[in-house]
Amino acid sequence: MKTSLSIQDSLLPFLPLLYIAWADGVLEEHEMAFIKKQIEENDTINPDTKLLVYKWLDPTNQPTARELAYWKSYIRQHADLLNPTEKQDLFNTGSQLAKKQDSEQWSNIETRESLILIEDYLGIASDEAIRSVYEINPVSSSQKSIEIKPEASYVESLKVLLQHGNADLKRKVQDILNPHKESIESYDDDLKTRKEKVLKWTQELASAGLGNLAYPKQYGGADSMVQYSAVFEEISKYDLSLTIKFGVHFGLFGGSVASLGTTFHHDKYLKDIGSIALPGCFAMTEMYHGSNVKALQTTAIYQEESQTFIIHTPTQNDRKTYIGNAAMHAQMATVFAQLIVNEEEHGIHAFLVPIRDQHGVTMPGITIGDNGHKMGLNGVDNGTLHFDSITIPKKNLLNKYGDVDEDGQYTSPISSPSRRFFTMLGTLVGGRLCVPIAGNTAAKKALNMAVYFALDRKQFGPPGKPEQSIMDYPTHQKS
Ligand SMILES: Cc1cc2nc3c(=O)[nH]c(=O)nc-3n(C[C@H](O)[C@H](O)[C@H](O)COP(=O)(O)OP(=O)(O)OC[C@H]3O[C@@H](n4cnc5c(N)ncnc54)[C@H](O)[C@@H]3O)c2cc1C
Repeated sequence: MKTSLSIQDSLLPFLPLLYIAWADGVLEEHEMAFIKKQIEENDTINPDTKLLVYKWLDPTNQPTARELAYWKSYIRQHADLLNPTEKQDLFNTGSQLAKKQDSEQWSNIETRESLILIEDYLGIASDEAIRSVYEINPVSSSQKSIEIKPEASYVESLKVLLQHGNADLKRKVQDILNPHKESIESYDDDLKTRKEKVLKWTQELASAGLGNLAYPKQYGGADSMVQYSAVFEEISKYDLSLTIKFGVHFGLFGGSVASLGTTFHHDKYLKDIGSIALPGCFAMTEMYHGSNVKALQTTAIYQEESQTFIIHTPTQNDRKTYIGNAAMHAQMATVFAQLIVNEEEHGIHAFLVPIRDQHGVTMPGITIGDNGHKMGLNGVDNGTLHFDSITIPKKNLLNKYGDVDEDGQYTSPISSPSRRFFTMLGTLVGGRLCVPIAGNTAAKKALNMAVYFALDRKQFGPPGKPEQSIMDYPTHQKS
């Protein structure tokens, strides 16, 4: 039976917080108890409203997917009436929503303070949360609108449209890769030669300033994930190994430094990553721990006396594996490991670990293997990494969401371990979206080949008449 959804006006100041709290599905019992306590102690909230909020804090009464979707669309719909500065934190958004609906009696200082305490306790990173409600694309405002000249042919116009305003960037990729087309399309290389060629093409793209587009401007980038993904899309028309090598180094390795590191890491590494002077890899997956990233077994144990971490692979099953760029070229790895400080576990964190020197010699205590032949992508040097209690400085922890302070105590702006984990992984999603973009391009390329082949290839035909193109057969058109 269809039931109608509605939101009582007095709930509006709390709506953005309730939505965010439930939307990632990891609200823990102590968190619900904390929210309830804050609301209970707030005398300015009317008892009926309190009851409404409590309803959503009962673990047996979780909002349904439909209710959550309705809350989100309600917030977004009404938020269109707000100006951008009013959308900056959850309380502000809630109280502005309440104002628009003439129910502002609860949007006072006391409620603001309770909500801020709740945000802190839940470790909600306000800007990330707000972005997830409005799905704000930080670069969309800087995107150029697509201009189609009236005199352009249909083919040209369609081309411009499909380039999404990034024709110049795509042409730059073409200018670099077209001269290598014959070599790219050759199947005669042995594994090592192919991998070296793919590295060389990656370096050429980097030299033209095409790798670092998603990084901040002060490090040579353009602060634009849209431009980065346009380049990624164009590269995937040429060679998928090159696409993955490019994505692993600039998107995953560089992206982890940009998103999980702080100013120290940005200043020290981002320029060299952008120019691929420092080739790197992203070492998350372990032999027996792939999809279940939370269960990774590599450890990073803090040593207070020396202000260092010891990175260790407990068993052969916990070796990092299928790590792109690891087998031959990377000099540094972003290693995901369980952080342990004073014998207390704090969950998965990312660490910068030098794995080779500038001459390509493997660092002591690290064993690197090669994953060998794959069913495709043989131009990428996927490999295994094993760490035998190697030492790295404290500063190599990418510490945006978790750190060890001067006194050797663990600190984090996000108190809930689950939320911290999802926030850290969430920052990497932008780059990962590039993988389906490349898959889509490969499918388009295959379709293009199938259509041209079908127009050209002839088979059978009416009696006594020439054979006809297989494109004329309805079964072929349908498939
Ligand atoms: C070419 C290539 C390059 C790679 N590059 C990198 C890299 O640079 N860095 C890196 O860290 N990793 C890399 N990887 C590893 C990749 O991230 C993992 O393969 C991926 O995370 C899946 O892990 P897994 O292979 O252990 O599969 P598993 O986790 O064992 O999954 C096997 C199957 O079970 C399914 N499955 C798993 N859990 C569930 C569940 N709970 N419910 C239902 N189904 C489930 C999966 O969908 C899958 O079909 C690469 C892999 C490949 C193939």
